[in-house]
Amino acid sequence: MDFPIFKTKIEGVSQRFNLNDPKERQKYFELKTGPEIKKLREYLKTNTFVAYLLGKKNSGKGTYAKMFAEIISPEKVDHFSIGDMIRSVDGELADPEKKKALIKFLEKNYRGRFSLDEIIHDLENRDTKTLRPTELILALAKREIEKKKKRALFIDGFPRDLDQINFSLFFRDLIGYRDDPDIFVLIDVPGSVIDERIKWRRVCPECQTSRNLKLLPTSKVGYDENKKEFYLICDNPNCQGAKMLPKEGDELGIEPIKERLTIDANLMEEAFSLYGISRILLRNSIPVNVAAKYVDEYEITPEYIYEWDDKLNKVKITEKPWVITDDEGALSVSLMAAPVAVSLIKQMADMFCH
Ligand SMILES: [Zn+2]
Repeated sequence: MDFPIFKTKIEGVSQRFNLNDPKERQKYFELKTGPEIKKLREYLKTNTFVAYLLGKKNSGKGTYAKMFAEIISPEKVDHFSIGDMIRSVDGELADPEKKKALIKFLEKNYRGRFSLDEIIHDLENRDTKTLRPTELILALAKREIEKKKKRALFIDGFPRDLDQINFSLFFRDLIGYRDDPDIFVLIDVPGSVIDERIKWRRVCPECQTSRNLKLLPTSKVGYDENKKEFYLICDNPNCQGAKMLPKEGDELGIEPIKERLTIDANLMEEAFSLYGISRILLRNSIPVNVAAKYVDEYEITPEYIYEWDDKLNKVKITEKPWVITDDEGALSVSLMAAPVAVSLIKQMADMFCH
């Protein structure tokens, strides 16, 4: 699979933006892709689409979909993840009324190899060893799509544990379910980027907000003198300065999910080869030696470095370009989410607005 590098740099424009600031980000999008934003808004007044986001775990699928909605039109663009959808079924089963409605829906819409009784039994016992049959996930996905009529829809992820045949069947069955265009959005992120995103991830124990000590700090950083460790302090005023913590196992990075990432990569290859469906390719990394030709410096993810200043009694923070090795072994930089969203918007406008 070859993901082309997308140019977001505009020659002769030297204006800089802080892409972590929502207001500045808005101005950034206006400058980089204003006409396409307008076209897509116009398109969505009377049209919709269904976009399947395919990328490895932690590739930022949800982030891009949310950013797209935020920029184009939060009322006209919706998003759901297959994983969340499956998890939410547990809650429905715990509520007698909702359970009744779910069973009624499945009686009408589920067609598959296993009896409905068997499936409900497995779901209720959270028997994770038995795979959730593709047909069940299909029925649930269709229900979700139904709920979001009249809106453009991003569907985040695909069912795990699908062999390649079932994977094709899954999409053959879903594609065309709604009477609007279907597209694949494939996201390419180097394993090394995913690895560091996990290793340095920090989560607020109060509000569960997730940030990254190395790549996306909060506005306040603390220092634990005993442990000689820097930590992030949650920005949410309700959390009253809570110290953000790593999740157990995160220090291992991608090691425990390597097998899953390989499956994800294979499924993406499979999707890539499905005929007749338009594709948008999003690329997270750019080789260092050509980066300046394609993007502006502030569009590149920096890495943050901390030092304890004894005299001033505070943490000194410096930024430098974060250089990683991509899956082909090329020294590369990783893009911020915003320029990737620009590439998504431009490609989408090319596809739908003529
Ligand atoms: Zn918090």
